[in-house]
Amino acid sequence: MTDIIRAGTPGTPGTPGTESLVCRLVDAELLVPTGVLGLYGRSGTYQDVADGIGAMVRRWGASLGARRLHLPPVLGRATFAHTNYLESFPDLMGSVHVFSGGNPEHKELLRRVESGGDWPALLEPADVVLASAACHGVYPLCTGVLPIEGRTFDVQSYCFRHEPSPQAARMQSFVMHEIAHVGTADGAWNHREEGLAHGLRMLSGLGLDMSAVPASDPFFGRVGAVLAAGQLDEELKMEGVTAIPGTQGMTAIMSANSHRDHFGVPFGIETAGGAVAHSACVAFGVDRIVVALLAVHGLDPASWPSGVRDQLGLAGSLA
Ligand SMILES: [Zn+2]
Repeated sequence: MTDIIRAGTPGTPGTPGTESLVCRLVDAELLVPTGVLGLYGRSGTYQDVADGIGAMVRRWGASLGARRLHLPPVLGRATFAHTNYLESFPDLMGSVHVFSGGNPEHKELLRRVESGGDWPALLEPADVVLASAACHGVYPLCTGVLPIEGRTFDVQSYCFRHEPSPQAARMQSFVMHEIAHVGTADGAWNHREEGLAHGLRMLSGLGLDMSAVPASDPFFGRVGAVLAAGQLDEELKMEGVTAIPGTQGMTAIMSANSHRDHFGVPFGIETAGGAVAHSACVAFGVDRIVVALLAVHGLDPASWPSGVRDQLGLAGSLA
């Protein structure tokens, strides 16, 4: 199976020189290949590290009084449309399709499967799409008037982005763990600022060499270039980046995002003072953090520095 990773999935050219880390992770049986670029199973050892990161994020969320939510990897289509994700990132989203035909259509479906025909053409869009960001699920819960202190959520889910890549840190299906705040403009901005500082401290404490850089989202198309420039200008998105050995350049493993009223308007969220609510989220790319830790400290977490293992709660589980 590692040959599929090394060569690239049929139809997706492999990129020599960028795939070495993912091959090492697969060879070490930390990631399990599926034949699709950027889609992996996780070993128990890998998951223990991911759980350790999750516990660290949860502790921070608990200190803020965050409501803890584990959301499914799919999101209602109507909610998704309200996030305006399609305006900015149509190329990254994924839809779910279902079969709703009768016996004749079923017969045709099987015929096409057997003959290698176009069987997905017989499916119809479901009421759900794949989640693109964990925090998208919290805004519909806030519709109406917020309590005076706003609302804070500790939210995680598997997310999907359609960007097949042989790079270990760019998965199509990955876990995002966010602490999101919905409240006043000042409250949301403070959450972004404090969250960025907290996240950088947390990840530096795990032995990762972190720095913060203003960033822009990969907006689609010509309008997208304008949106990206505006986002950069106003420093609405800050990324915590690190160098992952075996990959090129710097990789964002967390981000701290000011949405202003981007979600407050479509979801009808008001502050106690009657203003349109602002929101901000601090997002940890759990898989990217695991990959970075494995690349920096070595592929056997049992041999990691004891301070790192202690923070991740690995002391007993891997002994
Ligand atoms: Zn978010």
